Amino acid sequence: MGKIAIMGAMPEEIEPIIATLHDLRETEYAANVYYEGNYKGQEVVVAYSKIGKVFATLTTAILIERFCCDKLLFSGVAGAINKELKIGDLIMADGLCQHDLDITAFGHPYGFVPEGDVCIWADSWLKQIAKKVAYDKNLILKEGIIATGDQFVASSERKEWIRQTFKADALEMEGAAVAVVCASLDVPFFVLRAISDSADMDAGFDFDEFLKSSAKLSANFILSMVEKLKNQ
Ligand code: SAH
Repeated sequence: MGKIAIMGAMPEEIEPIIATLHDLRETEYAANVYYEGNYKGQEVVVAYSKIGKVFATLTTAILIERFCCDKLLFSGVAGAINKELKIGDLIMADGLCQHDLDITAFGHPYGFVPEGDVCIWADSWLKQIAKKVAYDKNLILKEGIIATGDQFVASSERKEWIRQTFKADALEMEGAAVAVVCASLDVPFFVLRAISDSADMDAGFDFDEFLKSSAKLSANFILSMVEKLKNQ
Protein backbone atom coordinates (compact mmCIF):
# COMPACT_ATOMS: atom_id res chain seq x y z
CA MET A 1 0.00 0.00 0.00
CA GLY A 2 1.29 3.48 -0.93
CA LYS A 3 1.50 6.55 1.24
CA ILE A 4 -1.71 8.11 2.54
CA ALA A 5 -2.04 11.90 2.67
CA ILE A 6 -3.90 13.29 5.68
CA MET A 7 -4.80 16.92 5.36
CA GLY A 8 -6.51 19.58 7.46
CA ALA A 9 -6.85 23.32 7.04
CA MET A 10 -5.74 24.50 10.48
CA PRO A 11 -3.14 23.33 13.04
CA GLU A 12 -5.89 22.22 15.43
CA GLU A 13 -7.17 19.79 12.79
CA ILE A 14 -3.91 17.89 12.33
CA GLU A 15 -2.20 18.18 15.73
CA PRO A 16 -4.10 15.18 17.18
CA ILE A 17 -2.91 13.13 14.20
CA ILE A 18 0.73 14.21 14.30
CA ALA A 19 0.83 13.43 18.02
CA THR A 20 0.28 9.73 17.24
CA LEU A 21 2.97 9.30 14.54
CA HIS A 22 6.24 7.40 14.81
CA ASP A 23 9.47 8.19 12.90
CA LEU A 24 8.27 11.76 12.42
CA ARG A 25 10.15 13.77 9.77
CA GLU A 26 9.42 17.40 8.91
CA THR A 27 9.99 18.96 5.51
CA GLU A 28 9.60 22.66 4.81
CA TYR A 29 8.26 23.32 1.37
CA ALA A 30 6.25 26.07 -0.35
CA ALA A 31 6.01 28.13 2.84
CA ASN A 32 4.52 25.22 4.75
CA VAL A 33 5.54 22.13 6.74
CA TYR A 34 4.86 18.53 5.71
CA TYR A 35 5.03 15.79 8.34
CA GLU A 36 5.97 12.28 7.22
CA GLY A 37 5.55 9.46 9.66
CA ASN A 38 4.20 6.06 10.45
CA TYR A 39 0.84 5.20 11.99
CA LYS A 40 0.54 1.55 13.07
CA GLY A 41 2.71 0.44 10.18
CA GLN A 42 1.17 2.72 7.56
CA GLU A 43 3.25 5.50 5.97
CA VAL A 44 1.40 8.82 6.03
CA VAL A 45 2.15 12.42 5.06
CA VAL A 46 0.27 15.03 7.08
CA ALA A 47 -0.17 18.76 6.52
CA TYR A 48 -2.50 21.62 7.26
CA SER A 49 -2.99 23.78 4.21
CA LYS A 50 -4.04 27.05 5.87
CA ILE A 51 -7.56 28.29 5.34
CA GLY A 52 -9.37 28.55 2.00
CA LYS A 53 -9.50 27.07 -1.46
CA VAL A 54 -6.21 28.42 -2.82
CA PHE A 55 -4.06 27.09 0.02
CA ALA A 56 -6.02 23.81 -0.04
CA THR A 57 -5.35 23.43 -3.75
CA LEU A 58 -1.63 24.03 -3.30
CA THR A 59 -1.27 21.57 -0.42
CA THR A 60 -3.30 18.84 -2.12
CA ALA A 61 -1.19 19.09 -5.26
CA ILE A 62 2.05 18.95 -3.24
CA LEU A 63 0.92 15.94 -1.19
CA ILE A 64 0.24 14.08 -4.41
CA GLU A 65 2.96 15.30 -6.76
CA ARG A 66 5.91 15.82 -4.41
CA PHE A 67 5.14 13.36 -1.61
CA CYS A 68 3.65 10.73 -3.94
CA CYS A 69 0.57 9.97 -1.85
CA ASP A 70 -1.90 7.73 -3.66
CA LYS A 71 -4.93 8.49 -1.48
CA LEU A 72 -6.02 11.57 0.44
CA LEU A 73 -8.09 11.81 3.61
CA PHE A 74 -9.22 15.26 4.74
CA SER A 75 -10.06 15.87 8.39
CA GLY A 76 -11.61 19.02 9.80
CA VAL A 77 -14.58 20.99 11.03
CA ALA A 78 -17.56 22.52 9.24
CA GLY A 79 -20.67 24.60 9.68
CA ALA A 80 -23.95 22.68 9.64
CA ILE A 81 -26.67 23.44 7.12
CA ASN A 82 -28.89 20.38 7.58
CA LYS A 83 -30.89 20.79 10.79
CA GLU A 84 -30.18 17.18 11.73
CA LEU A 85 -26.49 17.99 12.10
CA LYS A 86 -25.51 19.10 15.60
CA ILE A 87 -22.17 20.26 16.98
CA GLY A 88 -19.80 17.27 17.17
CA ASP A 89 -21.66 15.21 14.53
CA LEU A 90 -19.57 13.63 11.79
CA ILE A 91 -20.41 14.06 8.13
CA MET A 92 -18.54 12.54 5.20
CA ALA A 93 -18.80 14.21 1.83
CA ASP A 94 -20.69 12.39 -0.84
CA GLY A 95 -20.38 15.28 -3.31
CA LEU A 96 -18.54 18.58 -3.00
CA CYS A 97 -19.28 21.86 -4.77
CA GLN A 98 -18.05 25.47 -4.77
CA HIS A 99 -20.81 27.79 -3.54
CA ASP A 100 -18.86 30.96 -4.38
CA LEU A 101 -18.11 30.08 -8.01
CA ASP A 102 -20.37 32.26 -10.15
CA ILE A 103 -20.37 32.83 -13.90
CA THR A 104 -24.16 32.76 -14.01
CA ALA A 105 -24.04 35.97 -16.11
CA PHE A 106 -23.32 33.64 -19.05
CA GLY A 107 -26.26 31.34 -18.35
CA HIS A 108 -24.29 28.71 -16.43
CA PRO A 109 -25.51 27.28 -13.13
CA TYR A 110 -23.94 28.37 -9.85
CA GLY A 111 -20.77 26.42 -9.08
CA PHE A 112 -20.05 25.60 -12.71
CA VAL A 113 -17.26 26.59 -15.08
CA PRO A 114 -16.73 25.06 -18.55
CA GLU A 115 -14.89 21.73 -18.39
CA GLY A 116 -15.64 21.49 -14.67
CA ASP A 117 -18.48 19.89 -12.70
CA VAL A 118 -20.84 21.50 -10.20
CA CYS A 119 -20.39 18.51 -7.91
CA ILE A 120 -17.38 16.20 -7.50
CA TRP A 121 -17.97 12.81 -5.90
CA ALA A 122 -15.76 11.33 -3.19
CA ASP A 123 -14.32 7.84 -3.65
CA SER A 124 -16.96 5.20 -2.96
CA TRP A 125 -14.52 2.59 -1.64
CA LEU A 126 -13.11 5.03 0.94
CA LYS A 127 -16.69 5.86 1.94
CA GLN A 128 -17.32 2.13 2.43
CA ILE A 129 -14.25 1.89 4.67
CA ALA A 130 -15.59 4.85 6.66
CA LYS A 131 -18.96 3.15 7.10
CA LYS A 132 -17.21 0.05 8.46
CA VAL A 133 -15.19 2.18 10.89
CA ALA A 134 -18.38 3.91 12.08
CA TYR A 135 -20.04 0.51 12.55
CA ASP A 136 -17.04 -0.90 14.48
CA LYS A 137 -16.83 2.16 16.72
CA ASN A 138 -20.59 2.44 17.12
CA LEU A 139 -20.54 6.01 15.82
CA ILE A 140 -23.12 7.79 13.71
CA LEU A 141 -21.61 8.92 10.43
CA LYS A 142 -23.80 11.05 8.18
CA GLU A 143 -23.26 11.47 4.48
CA GLY A 144 -24.15 14.47 2.36
CA ILE A 145 -23.23 17.32 0.07
CA ILE A 146 -20.55 19.68 1.32
CA ALA A 147 -20.41 23.20 -0.10
CA THR A 148 -17.05 25.00 -0.12
CA GLY A 149 -16.30 28.69 -0.51
CA ASP A 150 -13.83 31.36 0.52
CA GLN A 151 -16.18 32.73 3.15
CA PHE A 152 -16.78 31.98 6.82
CA VAL A 153 -20.57 31.75 6.71
CA ALA A 154 -22.26 33.25 9.75
CA SER A 155 -25.63 34.14 8.23
CA SER A 156 -28.88 32.19 8.11
CA GLU A 157 -29.75 33.83 4.76
CA ARG A 158 -26.49 32.82 3.07
CA LYS A 159 -26.76 29.35 4.56
CA GLU A 160 -30.31 28.94 3.26
CA TRP A 161 -29.26 30.09 -0.20
CA ILE A 162 -26.45 27.50 -0.25
CA ARG A 163 -28.88 24.81 0.94
CA GLN A 164 -31.38 25.59 -1.79
CA THR A 165 -28.85 26.08 -4.58
CA PHE A 166 -26.65 23.05 -3.94
CA LYS A 167 -28.81 20.84 -1.69
CA ALA A 168 -25.85 21.06 0.68
CA ASP A 169 -25.81 19.63 4.21
CA ALA A 170 -22.67 21.32 5.52
CA LEU A 171 -20.28 24.04 4.47
CA GLU A 172 -16.60 24.83 4.87
CA MET A 173 -13.69 26.43 3.01
CA GLU A 174 -11.44 23.70 1.51
CA GLY A 175 -13.19 20.45 0.60
CA ALA A 176 -14.17 21.15 -3.01
CA ALA A 177 -10.66 22.41 -3.79
CA VAL A 178 -9.24 19.10 -2.55
CA ALA A 179 -11.84 17.30 -4.65
CA VAL A 180 -11.00 19.18 -7.86
CA VAL A 181 -7.28 18.45 -7.53
CA CYS A 182 -7.70 14.79 -6.58
CA ALA A 183 -10.24 14.14 -9.33
CA SER A 184 -7.97 15.82 -11.91
CA LEU A 185 -4.99 13.70 -10.82
CA ASP A 186 -7.10 10.56 -10.44
CA VAL A 187 -6.33 10.14 -6.74
CA PRO A 188 -9.07 8.66 -4.52
CA PHE A 189 -10.07 11.10 -1.79
CA PHE A 190 -12.31 11.30 1.26
CA VAL A 191 -13.50 14.40 3.15
CA LEU A 192 -14.66 14.12 6.76
CA ARG A 193 -15.92 17.03 8.85
CA ALA A 194 -17.11 17.29 12.43
CA ILE A 195 -19.60 20.08 13.00
CA SER A 196 -18.21 23.10 14.88
CA ASP A 197 -21.07 25.57 14.38
CA SER A 198 -24.33 26.11 12.51
CA ALA A 199 -23.16 28.82 10.10
CA ASP A 200 -25.62 31.28 11.67
CA MET A 201 -25.34 34.39 13.84
CA ASP A 202 -23.63 32.40 16.60
CA ALA A 203 -21.16 30.70 14.26
CA GLY A 204 -18.08 32.71 15.23
CA PHE A 205 -18.67 32.11 18.92
CA ASP A 206 -19.51 28.41 18.50
CA PHE A 207 -16.53 27.86 16.22
CA ASP A 208 -14.09 29.20 18.82
CA GLU A 209 -15.76 27.10 21.50
CA PHE A 210 -15.92 23.79 19.62
CA LEU A 211 -13.03 23.89 17.11
CA LYS A 212 -10.69 21.76 19.22
CA SER A 213 -13.17 19.14 20.40
CA SER A 214 -14.79 18.70 16.98
CA ALA A 215 -11.41 18.63 15.20
CA LYS A 216 -10.32 15.85 17.53
CA LEU A 217 -13.43 13.76 16.83
CA SER A 218 -12.73 14.01 13.12
CA ALA A 219 -9.01 13.26 13.56
CA ASN A 220 -9.69 10.16 15.66
CA PHE A 221 -12.06 8.83 13.04
CA ILE A 222 -9.51 9.41 10.27
CA LEU A 223 -6.85 7.54 12.26
CA SER A 224 -9.19 4.55 12.54
CA MET A 225 -9.68 4.70 8.80
CA VAL A 226 -5.91 4.61 8.25
CA GLU A 227 -5.71 1.51 10.43
CA LYS A 228 -8.54 -0.15 8.54
CA LEU A 229 -6.97 0.73 5.19
CA LYS A 230 -3.66 -0.75 6.33
CA ASN A 231 -5.41 -4.03 7.11
CA GLN A 232 -7.27 -4.27 3.80
N1 SAH B 1 -10.90 31.37 13.60
C1 SAH B 1 -10.00 31.22 12.48
C2 SAH B 1 -10.73 31.25 11.16
C3 SAH B 1 -11.55 30.03 10.92
S1 SAH B 1 -12.24 29.96 9.33
C4 SAH B 1 -8.98 32.37 12.55
O1 SAH B 1 -9.30 33.43 13.03
O2 SAH B 1 -7.86 32.14 12.09
C5 SAH B 1 -13.21 28.48 9.46
C6 SAH B 1 -12.49 27.18 9.19
O3 SAH B 1 -13.31 26.11 9.64
C7 SAH B 1 -12.27 26.89 7.72
O4 SAH B 1 -11.10 26.15 7.55
C8 SAH B 1 -13.52 26.12 7.28
O5 SAH B 1 -13.21 25.02 6.45
C9 SAH B 1 -14.14 25.60 8.59
N2 SAH B 1 -15.50 26.12 8.92
C10 SAH B 1 -16.15 25.80 10.07
N3 SAH B 1 -17.31 26.46 10.17
C11 SAH B 1 -17.44 27.21 9.04
C12 SAH B 1 -18.42 28.14 8.58
N4 SAH B 1 -19.51 28.43 9.30
N5 SAH B 1 -18.21 28.74 7.37
C13 SAH B 1 -17.12 28.45 6.65
N6 SAH B 1 -16.15 27.60 7.06
C14 SAH B 1 -16.28 26.98 8.25
